This record gives sequence, C-alpha cells and structure tokens, in this order.
Amino acid sequence: MLQVDDVTVAFGGIRALVDVSIDVEAGRITGLIGPNGAGKTTLFNVITGLQRPRNGQVALGGVRITTKGPRARARMGMGRTFQRLEVFGSLSALDNVLVAVENRGGLGRSARQKAADLLARVDLGHVARVQADVLPTGQARLLELARALACEPKVLLLDEPFSGLDANESARVGDLLEQLAGEGLAILLVEHDMEMVMRLCARIHVLSFGSVIASGSPDQIKADPGVQEAYLGAVVSAGAET
Ligand code: ATP
Repeated sequence: MLQVDDVTVAFGGIRALVDVSIDVEAGRITGLIGPNGAGKTTLFNVITGLQRPRNGQVALGGVRITTKGPRARARMGMGRTFQRLEVFGSLSALDNVLVAVENRGGLGRSARQKAADLLARVDLGHVARVQADVLPTGQARLLELARALACEPKVLLLDEPFSGLDANESARVGDLLEQLAGEGLAILLVEHDMEMVMRLCARIHVLSFGSVIASGSPDQIKADPGVQEAYLGAVVSAGAET
C-alpha cells in the first residue's frame, strides 16, 4: 500500500536518510524503530509530504506521490497522528472530529452523525461534549485517532501513539489498532515502546544512522545481531526476562 524506495535526505552536511526503502502492507501493522536521531521523524515527514527527499520515490497504492504536498496525500488516503498532540483544545471532542469530517467534504447532519460514529468507534462517545484540553492523555490520543480516521485513510501513520499512556490505555489503543488493521488498513507505527511494537507488528523496519539495518518479523528483529548492537540489546533482553 505504501512504498518508499531509495530515499535520501540531507540537511547541509548531515545525511539524515541514506537510500532508505521500506514497505507498508494493507491489513497489517508495520513498525519503524531506531535510536534517537536515527531518522524516523525525517522519514515520516518524507512519507507525509512535509520533507522533499533529495533522491528516491514514495508511492501510495502504486501511485507515485513524491512531489505531492501533504493535503493531496491526505485526500489520496494518507492519515497521520502526531507525537505532540494536535487536537483543538478549546473545542469539544465531537467538534474536533467534526472539523476533520468537514475538511473531507462532509456537511450538515450527516457530517455530525459521522463524527459521532467515529467517536464511538474509538470508545469516546461518553465524552463527546467534553472540551478536548481537559481530556486525559489516553483519551486525547484516541481523539486524534478518530480525527485521522475521518479522512478515510488507506494508510495510517502513527508517531508514538503510546507515549504518555498507562498500561490500560496502551492496551486499549493497541486493541483498536489491531481492529483497524484487521479491517484492511495499512498502519505504520513509529514507537519507542518495544513491548507494544513486538506485540502488534507483523513486520518491523529498523533505522540506524539514517539507514535501514534490518527488516523482518519481531522474532527476526529480536534475533538480529546488528539490531542488538545498534539498539535493542538491553531492551529485548529485559523484555525476554519479564
Ligand atoms: P527521535 O527518536 O529522537 O525523534 P528520529 O529517529 O526521529 O529521532 P530525526 O529527527 O529524523 O531522528 O533526525 C535524524 C537526523 O537528522 C539527526 O541527526 C537530526 O539531528 C537531523 N535533523 C533532523 N531534522 C533536521 C533539520 N531540520 N535540520 C538539520 N538537521 C536535522
């Protein structure tokens, strides 16, 4: 569904990404992990159209989108959430989703109904009238997901959706992501919470110093000596002991 081929990005003398190729399949959750500064955010920005690569291509559903801007990509079915929450704090939860539905061209009562359905979908029906900036982080992240779903994405890009969540909230978001993938959505998950990454992802790409050093199943990634060395050693063995 989403294909990145040989992407290179340089900031002055720093090569943030070097010949990076990854793919994200429909109906699955794909992980993108790597140490701080590895280039995950830069790759995310290339995929969503905020950063133009020096070389390489991005394709969505087989259509090249490398030169298209973020809005065009959103219209073509690319949804995203942000590491720092991007909800409208002064609006109610329902109105936050309604704005996203209206952006997509929805109008009137049917737009309101759709917004209510999306809120119910992420289990937030009971806080529809609550102002977004008083929602706890877990609910605010679910609200962001509802907003992303309003653009009817084929691919959903998630930047650290588990950051700041407690175990219960993480489990809830994890279950929802599994459901969405089960319905055919392609999900790319950038995340530092290795337990969630290993539990949810069918496939994982590992970035280190701007290059993909491994791609494979969670078991393959855990067993990869290069990944252990670059990043995971302590985390994976700690996870294995618990
Ligand atoms: P983190 O996990 O900390 O968010 P990351 O994997 O997302 O890190 P990036 O933020 O993509 O990594 O950064 C990759 C490299 O590119 C780093 O060396 C960073 O300092 C550099 N970099 C990123 N954006 C810019 C920019 N706008 N100008 C100059 N250098 C940048």
